[in-house]
Amino acid sequence: MKNEHINEKEIQQYILAKDDCDINIIEHINHCQKCKAEVELYKLLFAAIKKEPNPVFEFDLVNLVMQQVSEKQNFSFDKYLIAILSGVSIAVISILIYLTNKYFPTLFNGISFIQFSLIAVTILLISIFIYIDMNKNYKDQMNFS
Ligand SMILES: [Zn+2]
Repeated sequence: MKNEHINEKEIQQYILAKDDCDINIIEHINHCQKCKAEVELYKLLFAAIKKEPNPVFEFDLVNLVMQQVSEKQNFSFDKYLIAILSGVSIAVISILIYLTNKYFPTLFNGISFIQFSLIAVTILLISIFIYIDMNKNYKDQMNFS
C-alpha cells in the first residue's frame, strides 16, 4: 500500500481505466477514506460532464449562410440591371444623336473615322477601369475580417 495520498492524475486513471491502474493505488483507495472521497467526487464530476449537452450554435448558422448566398445572388442581379440600363442608355443616346443629326448635319461630319475610333476606345477603356475599380471595392467590402 502506498503511504502517501494518491494524486489527481492517479485518481482519474483509477476512474477511467481501473484495469490499467497500479495495484498500490487501488489498495490505497480501498483503505484511505480521504482518497476514496476524492474518487467519489471525481466520479460525480465525470457523470456531470457526460450529462452536459453538446454545445450548439446560439445562432442559426444555415440561415446566416443562406442569407449571404442570396445577397451575392442579388449582386449578380444588380450586375444584369446595370448592363440592361447601360444598353438602354446607349440606345437612347444613339437615337438622340440620330434625331439631332438631322438638325446639325455637320456635327459629325467634321471628325474622321480614326478620330471617332480614338474617342470610342478612350470611353471603353475608362469604362473598363471604372468597372474594375468598382469590382475591387465590392470584393474588399465583402472581405469579413
Ligand atoms: Zn489517501
